[in-house]
Amino acid sequence: MIELKSPGELERMRRAGQVVARLLEHLAGLVRPGVRTKELDREALAFLRQAGAEPAFLGYRGFPATLCVSVNAEVVHGIPGERKIAEGDLVSLDAGAIVEGFYADAATTVMVGAVSAQARRLTDTTRRALDQGIAQAVVGRRLSDISHAVQETVEREGFGIVREFVGHGIGRALHEDPPIPNFGPPHMGPRLKAGMVLAIEPMVTMGHHDVQVLGDGWTAVTKDGSLAAHFEHTVAVTERGPDVLTRG
Ligand code: MG
Repeated sequence: MIELKSPGELERMRRAGQVVARLLEHLAGLVRPGVRTKELDREALAFLRQAGAEPAFLGYRGFPATLCVSVNAEVVHGIPGERKIAEGDLVSLDAGAIVEGFYADAATTVMVGAVSAQARRLTDTTRRALDQGIAQAVVGRRLSDISHAVQETVEREGFGIVREFVGHGIGRALHEDPPIPNFGPPHMGPRLKAGMVLAIEPMVTMGHHDVQVLGDGWTAVTKDGSLAAHFEHTVAVTERGPDVLTRG
């Protein structure tokens, strides 16, 4: 069952969302060659605490960090560590915050310096796929209208859309109903209602869409080693249209 949030709850989620938006903007400015991914993680935790928020990912099912940092062929759930960012990398940053018991979740992919034309196209397409998905988060549409819009945008460019990981409802918990696949036929699933809040998050690969999880139990990488990009927003469905709570 999909929980509907009251206007007061949406405002608390917006506060969490704005913290995540500011955090990702801040971190994106720190991503440069030579920076270790664990330094970004340390900065993320300090930033959240300073903002009066709690990290949503730290300790979630045992996840050991505040931030997911996924570089190049890593798709999602990369664990920050000793790795140094290099010129030409694609660095996906995924962050979640809790404010007054309510969650927000967002992700962005940062191009480090001069990336290949293909890597830029992958990144731009993933961002556009998220925008196209958000545009379907409208009262009266069905859930899979979002999924279909994302898939169409990605596959039209010849890229792969990941199946194993999906978007999700969000609110009093990081992951609520419904799961939101980034693929599938339109006009299926629950009808969208005002007060639903959805974390929409296309994960896109340059090659085949198959992924595998590494031995650390978290880091998902493309099976064929191709590059990946990931964008995410927490979006409220309202009578006035989609309201992106994590947009700065
Ligand atoms: Mg998410």
